[in-house]
Amino acid sequence: MNSEFGRFFLPGPTEVHPDILAAMVRPMIPHRGPGMVELLAGIEEPLGRIFRTKRRVLIGTCAATGFMEMAARCGIRARALSLVGGAFGERFAAIVRACGNDVVRVDVQPGQTVEADMVHDALRRSEVDAVTLVHSETSTGALAHLAEIAEVVRGFDDVLVLVDAVTSMAGSPVETDEAALDFVFTGSQKALALPPGLALAVASERMLERAANVPARGGYLDVLAYDKAIAKRQPTNTPAISLLYALHAQLGRIDAEGGIEARWRRHEKMRQTVERWVDGSGGALGYRFLPPAERRSWTVSCLRVPSGGNGRVITHAVAQRGWTIASGYGKLKEATIRIGHMGDHTVERLEELLSLIEEVSE
Ligand SMILES: *Cc1c(COP(=O)(O)O)cnc(C)c1O
Repeated sequence: MNSEFGRFFLPGPTEVHPDILAAMVRPMIPHRGPGMVELLAGIEEPLGRIFRTKRRVLIGTCAATGFMEMAARCGIRARALSLVGGAFGERFAAIVRACGNDVVRVDVQPGQTVEADMVHDALRRSEVDAVTLVHSETSTGALAHLAEIAEVVRGFDDVLVLVDAVTSMAGSPVETDEAALDFVFTGSQKALALPPGLALAVASERMLERAANVPARGGYLDVLAYDKAIAKRQPTNTPAISLLYALHAQLGRIDAEGGIEARWRRHEKMRQTVERWVDGSGGALGYRFLPPAERRSWTVSCLRVPSGGNGRVITHAVAQRGWTIASGYGKLKEATIRIGHMGDHTVERLEELLSLIEEVSE
């Protein structure tokens, strides 16, 4: 089974290692019993190391979008600045609005990122109480400069930084405490390489204070309820127990690899592998990165296909050989392909995939 691993390069859900799948096949335990307390206690420290935080990581049973909604419901009083450079930035802005808030937007072209100076200008012009952004925009493969943006936002009084780190967390540096992020969330099925179904987040003290003062922070996604529960190492409601087994096992595998920094390095090497290919034989065929250098995600590469080519056709040809990549997202469906090199993937398998893409493109 192990030798089969490594052909599924979707940018989410990502391929789950057989050891992790095996770890899920265990009997249920009472979710209010000592077994659950012990399980959550065992998860606490290693998960904090991944989020680079001393705070407790909140764990919920929902898609990552659930915690996006938690950010919007609990972290915004009335009006947010939303940074939009692709489908997930767009989704965040839409959810902010759907939760009854006003939205001021900064938009950039797909593949581009909103830069810190643009955020500074926008915050000087409009009064908002939070900024929403997507760190690694999975629809375009663009990576925002999170630390610089967070620093700019901190220069404004009482403005929270709410971060979608769904495809950056666990695959590239996200310094939650150092950058003083107020809310940063991910989902289990991206760089953590678990099955879908868990959302994970860290909320700052400022975020909790804000939540206590917003008019209607909701019930199921109430960040204060999550914070109170995890302080006692308890779930809010019946959690996806099997996925917690998987998370526990995966945290052990991450430690065995050498910790989160070793994991980042492997992802960085995978990004560099695609860059080298585009500089060489892939580029000779006409493949180009959508985002500029220095703004490329470490976990998902979005490439413009050779002119006359079609992302869907290439994706299909790759699928016929037993491998999986994604075509472009939305309007970029035919003009680009996306390779999700995150989670437990290796440089070696990625190189095989790139050769295959070359083969089907000739
Ligand atoms: C996948 C993804 C999401 C949505 O995750 P769900 O678990 O499907 O809700 C949000 N943001 C980004 C950047 C993503 O890649």
